[in-house]
Amino acid sequence: MDNESINYNRYRWNRMLLNGFWSILVITVVLECLYLTITEVPTGQFIRAYMLKPSAFQFTTLLIAETGLRVLRGKYQDYILILTSAVLAFIIVFIHNSINYLLLALFLPVMVSIFYFQNKKLLFALVNTLSSLFLLYWTNDFIHQDITLIGLTTISVMFCVFSLVAWGILSRGRELLNHLKSYFESNQQLLVKTIWMDKLAKTDALTDLYNHITFHEYFERLIDQHEQNGLPLQLAIVDIDNFKHVNDTYGHRAGDAVLKSVADLIRAKVSANDFVARYGGEEFAVLFTDKASESAFVAVEQIREEIAKVVHEAFGGKPVTVSIGYAEYTSGEGKEHFFNRVDTALYKAKSTGKNRTIVALDPHQLENQSQLA
Ligand code: GH3
Ligand code: MG
Ligand code: MG
Repeated sequence: MDNESINYNRYRWNRMLLNGFWSILVITVVLECLYLTITEVPTGQFIRAYMLKPSAFQFTTLLIAETGLRVLRGKYQDYILILTSAVLAFIIVFIHNSINYLLLALFLPVMVSIFYFQNKKLLFALVNTLSSLFLLYWTNDFIHQDITLIGLTTISVMFCVFSLVAWGILSRGRELLNHLKSYFESNQQLLVKTIWMDKLAKTDALTDLYNHITFHEYFERLIDQHEQNGLPLQLAIVDIDNFKHVNDTYGHRAGDAVLKSVADLIRAKVSANDFVARYGGEEFAVLFTDKASESAFVAVEQIREEIAKVVHEAFGGKPVTVSIGYAEYTSGEGKEHFFNRVDTALYKAKSTGKNRTIVALDPHQLENQSQLA
């Protein structure tokens, strides 16, 4: 498990542990009050020996731990809390040496160490537990007399076996976490792959512009938007003039280089809200979505003039020119009608000398024209 996962929310958990330790102090005082009602020990002596003295020790220990949690950083916080739990357990068992099942409280540090999911800390806690046990055995006469050496060995073995179970829990936890992590990572890889595939499906590999299918998808959606909200929409179809000649004279590779360069020039001239696609072989479509008709036309003319200026190494240091059909969408005319108007304008640009932009007749003009004919 990496450090980041281990340290995740460390302070919050250490704070909760320390709050738990304060609760232990409160609980022991409450229990002592209950014992006070049944004990045969004189009240004054009981309060001194079983309440004031141990509580003072526990209180001091907890104050030191509070300081440790504020002053120390990283793993040292964890170690100080394991040590605190060992001292608290030691005090409780030392004072109540006649209640031998309380020896189990010495296992508290190992339980605390489980929170950290690290074998090192588990081992540190076990050492604390066993040290407390032996220290009690040698320093507390009552315990020394009450427990035989075999009993001491049995308790030690029991603590080791419990710790082994704790170790098993940690290993299982780590295994699950690693499994989750690799699952998460492979999911992430899949997502990246999906995004990449999506981009591949939407764009043209040579020019990195949107492809023909994507153009039609957006075109349809933008027309819907116009019909619903009246958003501006203009279309320009840009076709490179005499492109066959580029291929025929300088080869297909040179043609590709010119196509890419023309695509870059168009992209550089439109704003972020406009949409450029490679509509066909040497044909591009530009959809303007946030411009008034005049400024869209100005942009179209800038594109045409700029392309006519830029020379291409692959084309013998010469520029290419483009012809453009252009129109603004008229509400209610529909996708096919709009596109055909622009395409007809492009045809007109080609047939009237190329390197020019022809603005398509609007639907009313077209109607009048057909009536005259
Ligand atoms: P016009 O001025 O009337 O548009 O003439 P044109 O030669 O540009 O038009 P035409 O339709 O006769 O020829 C288009 C050429 O574009 C033919 C085709 O080989 C070439 N072309 C289409 N796609 C590609 C491509 O991806 N790479 C290259 N290098 N050439 C392409
Ligand atoms: Mg052409
Ligand atoms: Mg063409």
